[in-house]
Amino acid sequence: MRAFEQFPRSGRPLMVKKFGGTSVADVERIRKVARLALESQRAGNDVVVVVSAMSGETNRLLGLAHQMLSRPDARELDVIAATGEQVSTALTSMAIQSEGGQSCSFLGHQLPLRTDSAFTRARIHQVEQERIRKALARGQIAVVAGFQGVDSDDNITTLGRGGSDTTAVALAAALGADVCEIYTDVEGVYTVDPRVCASGRKLKSIPYEEMLELASLGAKVLQVRSVEIAMKYEVPVHVRSTFSEEEGTWVVSREKTFESRVLAGLACERNQARVEISGIEHHPGRVAELMELLAQMNTSVDLLRHCREDVHASLAFTLAEEELLRARPSLEQLVERMGASRVHVSAGLAKVSLVGIGIRSDPWIAARVCRSLARHGIGVSDLAVNELRISGLVEGNHADEALRILHEAFLLAPTDAAEPSAAYAEGGLQ
Ligand code: ADP
Ligand code: ASP
Ligand code: MG
Repeated sequence: MRAFEQFPRSGRPLMVKKFGGTSVADVERIRKVARLALESQRAGNDVVVVVSAMSGETNRLLGLAHQMLSRPDARELDVIAATGEQVSTALTSMAIQSEGGQSCSFLGHQLPLRTDSAFTRARIHQVEQERIRKALARGQIAVVAGFQGVDSDDNITTLGRGGSDTTAVALAAALGADVCEIYTDVEGVYTVDPRVCASGRKLKSIPYEEMLELASLGAKVLQVRSVEIAMKYEVPVHVRSTFSEEEGTWVVSREKTFESRVLAGLACERNQARVEISGIEHHPGRVAELMELLAQMNTSVDLLRHCREDVHASLAFTLAEEELLRARPSLEQLVERMGASRVHVSAGLAKVSLVGIGIRSDPWIAARVCRSLARHGIGVSDLAVNELRISGLVEGNHADEALRILHEAFLLAPTDAAEPSAAYAEGGLQ
């Protein structure tokens, strides 16, 4: 995304409030959203509201498309998927008016919110703020459709699942908002998905870096690109519940976090596949060619390892099962070009990750992950460690149990006062 040109501010604080699908699931909930927006405006703020499609609607629309065609064209998918937000945006604007407020709705192409042409996963290039600025100056609440934009040829694009978060943070960055509030169906960011593990604890705050890691490893409470933009433009993000007054979680720079935690939380990506290609000739040019082919596939792969075995080499990586379907032709080409002797694909896996600072520098963390899971008979493979995370693969049907075990092993204490290795030593190798 290009740097935003910021417009002169009215002097009133500016709030961007994003409401997810469950928050706009029906007419009554949309009225509640309208009241929250109006309360904030009446308290003296300029207010921009971003809405997702009504709960379940995007899935319904994509389902219709797939009934029509087994592999629908991505451009047409975006045309249909974007309609979900058109409905909720209009209804939210009407709800504000029915409560006696003033509002104006905007779809992506009306602003416009410019993106590249990567249909179904577009990236924002620029947000035109003129129309929002004028609406705010007229005393209106601007209601903007999340998830959608328009490319340089005026094709409708969408920003990937969960993309309304990204719309909201990008608008907050462009408008120089004081805060971007992400209203959702949980009270904030937890140490683990609270729907999977009831002992998950709400964090008061989390640094952008750890949030980025959690989001990219499967914690869908924020779309990963929204965190990238928040970090780049230092937008304070407040994740909170639409259904309670409780303070949520602040996603902010490390200096502004109020708790010092070593370990932030756990995340999980389900429906993962692992591909292993072995018997590849070991030669520097071959390795480069291999990586280029992977890049051309334009799929995000993880836990990538390229290992030398005598004169040959092997390559293993994980990717989402649905990406595997899309990438199959490129993969077949890759295998043929590399003259590989064996290809092994396993599906139905889950990638479980523990996120926190200094993970690589404490070797006992990896040991403790494996030992805790082993005690319950859960095997973990393809461990990858870096400064901010440790990830490994487990069988998909073990994912929830693995999260609960690891949560108990690493995250139950209110703060991580002790070094993780010290905590490990206390627990001991049993
Ligand atoms: P919305 O429709 O409001 O965008 P999402 O379903 O996209 O909501 O994201 C909220 C969901 O994210 C929660 O219901 C929760 O199940 C899930 N989630 C996963 N990991 C976490 C986490 N670490 N903290 C909070 N929620 C999480
Ligand atoms: N409606 C879109 C989706 O379901 C975008 C969003 O909810 O953020 O993915
Ligand atoms: Mg979401």
